[in-house]
Amino acid sequence: VLEARGLGRSYHGKAVVSDVDLAVPAGQTVAVLGPSGAGKSTMLRCLAGLEPIQTGSVGFQGGPLSEAGGRPRSFHGRIGMVFQQFNLFPHLTAVQNVALAPVRVRGVAKEQARSEAVALLDRVGLPEHRDHYPFEMSGGQQQRVAIARALAMRPELMLFDEPTSALDPEFTREVLAVMRDLAEDGMTILVVTHEMEFARRSADRVVFMAEGRIVEDGPAATVFEQPRHERTRQFLAQVL
Ligand code: ATP
Ligand code: MG
Repeated sequence: VLEARGLGRSYHGKAVVSDVDLAVPAGQTVAVLGPSGAGKSTMLRCLAGLEPIQTGSVGFQGGPLSEAGGRPRSFHGRIGMVFQQFNLFPHLTAVQNVALAPVRVRGVAKEQARSEAVALLDRVGLPEHRDHYPFEMSGGQQQRVAIARALAMRPELMLFDEPTSALDPEFTREVLAVMRDLAEDGMTILVVTHEMEFARRSADRVVFMAEGRIVEDGPAATVFEQPRHERTRQFLAQVL
């Protein structure tokens, strides 16, 4: 579904992401691990077409998404993104948050968008919070609304950037459960996370990044049990 070749991004001449080759095939869940400042979020933004790239290329569904030096193509919701901060519209209820983009961007009729939003809120375990505003919900509930909002655009790929880092452990579990369900339903997922249990149990592949480069890329069991690089071993020793 998504493929980066030789992807590089620098700020003010300083390379932040270098020479990244990464493929995310349909239906796979790929977890990206790595220390702070490794370039994980920058790479994700480049893969989502939110930032221009300086070297290489990114392809999405067999066509170009981004080329070195050019402006990325916009994929209007076909790539869903969920960030650490939920960024819900504070003056809209859960249903209104989820239904907004389908009406505005996909041109879905209001009533239809509303009933789809209700179904999505059921799916993320929030049937009772339809008419609640963000300030009336926990962080975990808000993050699940944010996931439902991204799903409302019927994305072919979901990108998550540390979706549980702002949450308490009990709420983290709820959000991870929703992501695991999505993965089991066959959604294609690329997720930057510090949740090692989730990476180990729910990801098909684990990618370890350090200093802007992909150091390791393999099945979760292999990366965790038999990392090939010293840098990966050091990182895992610190976090496990
Ligand atoms: P974390 O785990 O802390 O989220 P990360 O792996 O996501 O870290 P990035 O946020 O991608 O790392 O940042 C990588 C490097 O790029 C950092 O040194 C950061 O200071 C730099 N950087 C990121 N965004 C910008 C920007 N807009 N302008 C300048 N430098 C930036
Ligand atoms: Mg980050």
